[in-house]
Amino acid sequence: MAAPARGEILRRAGDLLDTRADAIGHDLAREEGKTLGEGVGETRRAAAIFRYYAAQTLEPDGETYPSASPRTFLFARREPVGVVTAITPWNFPIAIPAWKLAPALAYGNTVVWKPAELVPLTSVRLLEALLDAGVPEGVLNLVVGRGSVVGDTLVTHPSVDAISFTGSNSVGRAIQLKATERGKKVQLELGGKNPAVVLADADLELAAEHVARGAFLSAGQKCTATSRVIIDQAVFEPFAERLAQRAVEWPLGDALDPTTKVGPLASDQQLQTVLGYLETARTERASIVAGGDRNDDLGSGYFVRPTVLTDVDPTSTIVREEIFGPVAALLAADSYEDAVEIANDTPFGLSASVFTNDLDSALRFARDIRAGVVKVNQESAGLEYHVPFGGTKGSSSGSREQGKAAREFYTEWKTIYIDPGTPGG
Ligand code: NAP
Ligand code: MG
Repeated sequence: MAAPARGEILRRAGDLLDTRADAIGHDLAREEGKTLGEGVGETRRAAAIFRYYAAQTLEPDGETYPSASPRTFLFARREPVGVVTAITPWNFPIAIPAWKLAPALAYGNTVVWKPAELVPLTSVRLLEALLDAGVPEGVLNLVVGRGSVVGDTLVTHPSVDAISFTGSNSVGRAIQLKATERGKKVQLELGGKNPAVVLADADLELAAEHVARGAFLSAGQKCTATSRVIIDQAVFEPFAERLAQRAVEWPLGDALDPTTKVGPLASDQQLQTVLGYLETARTERASIVAGGDRNDDLGSGYFVRPTVLTDVDPTSTIVREEIFGPVAALLAADSYEDAVEIANDTPFGLSASVFTNDLDSALRFARDIRAGVVKVNQESAGLEYHVPFGGTKGSSSGSREQGKAAREFYTEWKTIYIDPGTPGG
């Protein structure tokens, strides 16, 4: 199919997602546990992503070059990579698949998509929108089933040319090995342990609000969530107070209740993991300034109170490992240099924030921090879809998703030399 015709289908899919956003967002909230507002917002974001890549199908798909021979027409163009396997996590069950499927289809590939086991309904809703928009039979294939059972086939099958994976580090690195030893292209977006640095001159109300959003919204189940907060000693106490106040006051409850700000965790397994880390925090002698446990008043739901920890050792488990729950660990710094050193002291490198009113400090931080995304006076989570996204160090395979950057993964160059067919031509 010609690229502009593919674009027409993707644009229709975007429009259908917008029309159905309330219903799909509701299903998403019921299935995954993020709030209704977040679920509807995520669906609308997916709609925008499909429309963005629809427009990309009208962009130039190659370049011409001067040749050493004046008779030669020399050009290179981007061709589809072939059959793409997309493996996606449960925490953004519409947006993450959208930012893989939309460029994969826009650039002319076929896709086998395996969503996370926890979110089959939301996945079917996205598939329906694409099929109703006119994606031809066989072009997009949804495979449900446990990753441990169907994963190997999807990664190692001889017909698969490329694998785009978002999820945990352990699964991602295992996939990378299997894919590369078979000569397949592979892209990984993995975990994070994202820092927010609060400098002494920061507006503490603004910083506390954005750190709370980054740490507690979606119950902290975002790869870009804020989980380490590094605060200049001079403002440590007043900042901690402001953050703890939000942890205690932000309404925790039913994802479908419009007054809820923080919903439940996504699964019992996720609940056990987060409660395990809170137990570890106690063993490691952290002070719990807010939260620290399950909210039993809310019955058997997977509700964990937004948690603020202080007196944490930089080498402790809760500072080193991704928790994927509503938990912020606070560390004090003596200086800018000290803060950056602590912020960079992690195997991860996905996103980072700094809070300051000083332009020099902001620019220095943007240069010094090793992360794929840097925010100044903004929460570490929250992305725009038309710019590159991805991590450094242990957070990624080094490639980028979203925006025009996605073209790099979903296509490959073909270089074409054309001479006239007759000597005098
Ligand atoms: P996960 O356990 O690694 O699962 C991710 C996907 O991989 C799921 O579809 C899963 O299927 C599948 N899978 C599991 N084992 C597999 C195998 N052996 N072969 C092939 N596929 C397999 O991750 P998760 O718990 O869903 O998601 C949370 C993690 O994702 C966190 O670490 C988070 O930081 C990361 N994440 C990263 C980004 C980013 O952009 N950097 C964004 C969001 C989340 P099943 O569900 O069937 O097990
Ligand atoms: Mg998992």
